[in-house]
Amino acid sequence: MVRTAALVPLTSTSTTPTAAIDHRRGRRPRAWPQTLGEDVGERAPRGLPHVAASSLGLLALCVACGGSSPSEDPLSCPPSAPIVGVAGEVTTEAFPLTFGADGASAELVVPEDLTALALVAEDGLEYTAFWTVQQDGRRWIDLDADPDGLDAPFFHTWNHAASLTFPSNEASALARGCLRVEVLTDGPGPSGTLHVLTRRRAEGGTMRVDLVRVGATELPGSSFDTLATELAAVFEATGLAVSIEVSIAAVPGDPFPPAEGEATLRLRGSYRPADAVRIPIYVIQGFVDELDTLGIAGGIPGANGVPGAASAGVLVAVDPHLDEEGRVDVLTMAETAAHELGHQLGLFHTTEAEGLDHDPLGDTAECPASRDTDGDGVVSAEECADLDGGNLMFWISGSFPQRELSPWQRRLLALSPVVR
Ligand SMILES: [Zn+2]
Repeated sequence: MVRTAALVPLTSTSTTPTAAIDHRRGRRPRAWPQTLGEDVGERAPRGLPHVAASSLGLLALCVACGGSSPSEDPLSCPPSAPIVGVAGEVTTEAFPLTFGADGASAELVVPEDLTALALVAEDGLEYTAFWTVQQDGRRWIDLDADPDGLDAPFFHTWNHAASLTFPSNEASALARGCLRVEVLTDGPGPSGTLHVLTRRRAEGGTMRVDLVRVGATELPGSSFDTLATELAAVFEATGLAVSIEVSIAAVPGDPFPPAEGEATLRLRGSYRPADAVRIPIYVIQGFVDELDTLGIAGGIPGANGVPGAASAGVLVAVDPHLDEEGRVDVLTMAETAAHELGHQLGLFHTTEAEGLDHDPLGDTAECPASRDTDGDGVVSAEECADLDGGNLMFWISGSFPQRELSPWQRRLLALSPVVR
């Protein structure tokens, strides 16, 4: 069975259905022959297209065995449940998951001083998903009711490592108390890992990023040092109150991987930084099967802080950023890298292609479909220039800098548990 957004008709009240994977396309840099129409035709939400039959069986099992509605029951953790994190610090902990017929579960105690929490459930390269995540009186995730991840603010569905970050908008900070998590895998199991990244101090710190050159990838007319400098400059321009540290690394590999598939999953997990919170940006020459795709994030959010996971890093391609003279437009490429990092840390597109779907934040401008003045079916950055066309997280690149972030977009990045 193929899962696409088309199975669930989008309505004007649904938002951003592209939770899991972003294929950022763009105009060619200035003066390149416009290929926008072709690009967006292919940029339909991909979601997570394939769910193995085994997991569908698992879903059916769980639907059958699901009984009470825990959101209506008092939820208390057993005395053995761990209190997550350390007061005043940002930490990473790992807990074993043992999958049975109805998935795996874990109970965690959220302390009063928690400011942000990231959960990553992984089972090798298999698809995993959070089936439910709930607290007393609040069901944050319910894949039974929302299998395609259409519900704000998490838009959660299957990925190669299921990932969630709290908060995801103004109204999704976790409360003190017991947090119960149920995880599904489409793999054989029986064991996986729940990674818990806990922030128990105020926002801010240093975001550490590695530009990872894949194989013989080249930046014609520029350099990795310049790209690193420009990437830091993009974040500085957003007003983000976080230090940015960009280093350069390399891994062997095919500079022209496909956009999806097992080889690409292995590439995404191939870089193992000395410090697990460093986020890899794999710099490839191009996607062999999507020549106009600028970059792809590992998820919204990805498996941050979990090197080796298939959604641990973002991919950014050089060749679709070349100008008519064959030199890389490093300013736009740095924006693409920053845009994908934004997804990786949990930011959605402020406006999606058709102008119907928007991010779950209340303080980002939204560009409506009525702005599609040229009638091509999508809203361009230029058509939305006085709204969110200049936002770093607008759905498509434009002919002007896109380096704006709203206060809440900045706050979510600064709260990330990989910012330390
Ligand atoms: Zn994007």
